[in-house]
Amino acid sequence: MLKEINKNALNVLSQLNKAGYEVYLVGGCVRDLLLGRKPKDFDIATNAHPEQVKAVFRNCRLIGRRFRLAHILYGREIIEVATFRGNSDQDNNNQKIHEDGRLLRDNIYGTLEEDVWRRDFTVNALYFNINTFSVIDYTGGLNAIKQGLLELIGDPETRYREDPVRMLRAVRFAAKLDFQLHPDTERPIKELANLLSSIPNARLYDEALKLFLSGNALTTFQKLHQYGLLAFLFPQTEHCLTKSMNSKADDFLIKALENSDKRVNAGKSITPYFLLSVFLWESVQISYQKKCNEGESHYFALQYAANDVLKAQVKITAIPRRVTQSIREVWVLQSRFEQRSATRVSRLLNHPRFRAAYDFLLLRAETGSADMELAQWWTQFQTLDAKKQEQMLTELNSNRRKNHRRRSPKKNP
Ligand code: ATP
Ligand code: MG
Repeated sequence: MLKEINKNALNVLSQLNKAGYEVYLVGGCVRDLLLGRKPKDFDIATNAHPEQVKAVFRNCRLIGRRFRLAHILYGREIIEVATFRGNSDQDNNNQKIHEDGRLLRDNIYGTLEEDVWRRDFTVNALYFNINTFSVIDYTGGLNAIKQGLLELIGDPETRYREDPVRMLRAVRFAAKLDFQLHPDTERPIKELANLLSSIPNARLYDEALKLFLSGNALTTFQKLHQYGLLAFLFPQTEHCLTKSMNSKADDFLIKALENSDKRVNAGKSITPYFLLSVFLWESVQISYQKKCNEGESHYFALQYAANDVLKAQVKITAIPRRVTQSIREVWVLQSRFEQRSATRVSRLLNHPRFRAAYDFLLLRAETGSADMELAQWWTQFQTLDAKKQEQMLTELNSNRRKNHRRRSPKKNP
C-alpha cells in the first residue's frame, strides 16, 4: 500500500510526525486504497492546529472560513491538512449553526476520537497511521467497505440538515464505488432534497462538476433523478425528463452521459460545458419554439431562450461566464451545420467550439433529433484534405441544383 501513497503526502506525514504531532491519512484516500482503487487526492488529519502546521512548512497556506485548513503546496499539487475537529456541543463562537441546522462554521479543535464523528460516511472515517501501518476504525467503516455499504455517521436527518450537500455526496459515492446506501441513510433524502436550495450556488457548481466529471455520470444522473435531488440541482432538466426516461430527449441525455463516461474512463479529457449544454438543450428548444410561435425571429428566439435558461441555472449552480459562453456557442452552432457554402463551412470548421458542437450534432442525430445524413457529411468532410473537401462541396452544390430543378415546376413555353 505504501507505494500507492503519493510522495508529497508521505513527506507531509513524516515532517509533522518529526515535529511531534499525531498525523494520519484520512477520508477518501484510505477508503480507496483499501478498495484497491487509485485515490483522487490524499487528505491528512492531525492534532496540530493550522498555525502550527504552517510553522512546520515553508510552502503552506491557510485557507477557509467554514473549516480552517492548511494547504501544503508542491508545484501544482496541494496536500490538504485538517486539524481534528472537537465536540460540537460546546457553546463557543468558533462554531456557528444556522437556524435551519446548517453548520456555518466549525473551528473547534479536538482529538481523533472526536474528529471521527464529524465525518460524513463510515467508509470516509478511517484513519491510517503509516508508522504502525494500522487503520483506526471507530465507526465500523472497515466492515462497511467489506459489505459495499454507504452509511452516514450519526442521525441521518440531522447530518443532512447540518450539510445538505451530504445528500449529493451519498449519491456520488454510491455511483463511484458501486455501493448501496444503507436504508437509514437513503430514507430521508427525498424529503430533505429541497434543503439544497439553501446551498450557495458556487458550492453547488463545484459539487455538480464532481458529480458529472468523474466517470460515473450516467449512474449518478439516474440516482439524482431517483432521489429527487435533480429537481433542486437542474430543475429545468428534471422538468423535461419523462417518468420512464425513454423519449428522444431522454435518449440524448443518456447517450451524452455514457459517452462522457467512456471518455473519462479512457483517460481522455472532458469539458464541463459539453454536458451542461446537453442538460439544458431541451429546455432551450421548448423556450425557442415558444418564442418563434410568438413571432420572434429564429436568431433572437434562440438568443433569448438561451439567456432565460442559463440565467435560471446560474442562480442554482454558479456556472462561470466563460463556461456559459461556450454552452451558448454549442447551441448557436447547431443551425450553422446546415449552411454549407464554401466560406461558411470553412468558417465553422475553424470555430474554437467546432469539435464540441459537432459531437453535439452527432448525438442529436444518433438519437433521432437531427438529420443523420448531415451529421455523416460533416463526419466525412473533416477527415479529408483540402482538395477532397472541395470535391464534396462541389458535389453537394450540384446535387442541390439537380434537386432544386426536379422540384421546381416546369414553366409553360
Ligand atoms: P474523493 O476525494 O474521492 O471525492 P473524499 O471522501 O476524499 O472523496 P473529500 O471531499 O476529499 O472526499 O473529503 C475528504 C474527507 O473529509 C471525507 O472523506 C470526509 O471524511 C470528510 N468530509 C468531506 N466533506 C464532508 C462533509 N460535507 N461532511 C462531513 N465530512 C466531510
Ligand atoms: Mg478526497
